[in-house]
Amino acid sequence: MTIIFNGNNYKYELESVVKLFFPAQLFTLLYDVRDADGDLCFSRLKAGKSKTYLFVLVRLGDKTTRLSTKVDNDIHDYRKACELELSRLLFLCLNKLTGITPEWGLITGVRPVKRVNKMIKTGLPDDSIKKQLEKKYLVAKDKINLAIITANTQKEILGTLKDGSFSLYVSIPFCPTRCSYCSFVSQAIDNVMGIIPQYIDNLCEELKYTAEIAHKLNLKLDTIYFGGGTPTSINEYQLEKLMKTVSSSFDLSSLREYTVEAGRADTITKEKLEVIKANKATRISINPQTLNDDVLKAIGRNHTAQQVFESYELARKIGFYNINMDLIAGLPTDTIESFENTIDSVVGLSPESITVHTLSIKRAADLNRSDKNVLRNPAPAMIAYSSRILLNNGYLPYYLYRQKNTVGNLENTGYSKKGFESLYNIYIMEEVQSIIATGAGASTKLILKDKMDRIFNYKHPLEYNNHFDLMIQKKDAIIDFYNRKGINEKE
Ligand code: SF4
Repeated sequence: MTIIFNGNNYKYELESVVKLFFPAQLFTLLYDVRDADGDLCFSRLKAGKSKTYLFVLVRLGDKTTRLSTKVDNDIHDYRKACELELSRLLFLCLNKLTGITPEWGLITGVRPVKRVNKMIKTGLPDDSIKKQLEKKYLVAKDKINLAIITANTQKEILGTLKDGSFSLYVSIPFCPTRCSYCSFVSQAIDNVMGIIPQYIDNLCEELKYTAEIAHKLNLKLDTIYFGGGTPTSINEYQLEKLMKTVSSSFDLSSLREYTVEAGRADTITKEKLEVIKANKATRISINPQTLNDDVLKAIGRNHTAQQVFESYELARKIGFYNINMDLIAGLPTDTIESFENTIDSVVGLSPESITVHTLSIKRAADLNRSDKNVLRNPAPAMIAYSSRILLNNGYLPYYLYRQKNTVGNLENTGYSKKGFESLYNIYIMEEVQSIIATGAGASTKLILKDKMDRIFNYKHPLEYNNHFDLMIQKKDAIIDFYNRKGINEKE
């Protein structure tokens, strides 16, 4: 497929639109030519005296379609208006020739709710927001409703955010085995067993140093999130050491949420859950992804659905009253019927929150799936089913994001019972609070008013161990960020 930009250079937007219809494909990009061989998306912008003429032609095999429109030259934000109109024409042409209707329309970014929140902030009522999303951005009604309910669920929670607060992320990038679709830096634990003790010691040091910085800057710890990987891949003593380091180094007096992602059922034991409970975590995640044993096997997870049920029961017995469960729609070999069974069974367990992800095509590509198979993937029907069942069972969407190249360009949505929304998930997705991250593969995102900065830790645990001194030095950038001229002056 060739994409031609004639008289315009809206590369990012137009290529993103083509990707909605042809995910995980590489394109040839040409500028200011009139034609090319084979499948083609052609866009032209021609400025006249008072109007600009926009034209799109799409050719797929022996079928061709074209659309045109014009924009006034003195329109507000002329560049954006031309970009949006060309994107619309391209979307409509591709929709006509492929028969595919990406439900998020022209909203290609990863945070659709952030856009809705911005509209709400300008005072627009829900009806006008709905109209704009539908007419201007070609978003399907179901997705508009999902985004608006999510934004409304978040409203109150965003209002509780305190200035000068931050969240702490602790990365444990190990898993018992690597799932076939995994796109994280996580390592199969057997391959890295020898470096784990050093990793835990270093991570404790990084946590202590981070606590000193937070103290110096008078930052208040609001939420903690142990993620990975699978934090419960390490043994109970290692987990305890980390959690005790957190509680002895940080001031937890303003802490509102403490999550440990227990993750895979094959790592969950009574001892580890007791350690998590004793160290004051308030929320855990037990992630089946699917409750179909054949699918679990196909994706390389070493556990059964039965183990998920047992872990869940154990966690309840030990006294966890805030449990999240993660699921993925569109997994290899999964069917609509089996996914519906998974949703029904998980809803039957009644966890406080359920997060439904869509398989990302980047991961599917690793599984050697062709585009054709990806487009035939039943994920859209699975996502629609999950949304209907969860809403009917008292779960409301509270955060929502998209990854690049997900099947059907679909979303990942966190649903919860009222009062069990994860603050951490909302704040990270809406980019309203600094997340200070520790451990290999973690990235810190610093946010203060309209300023944002990022610090990346070494990705691999071995690199993290080997360059630990440098790693620690990087942390000083947090102090620089908060003390930077212009930031404090604004306060
Ligand atoms: S449990 Fe998650 S992080 Fe670990 S291998 Fe599977 S997908 Fe990757």
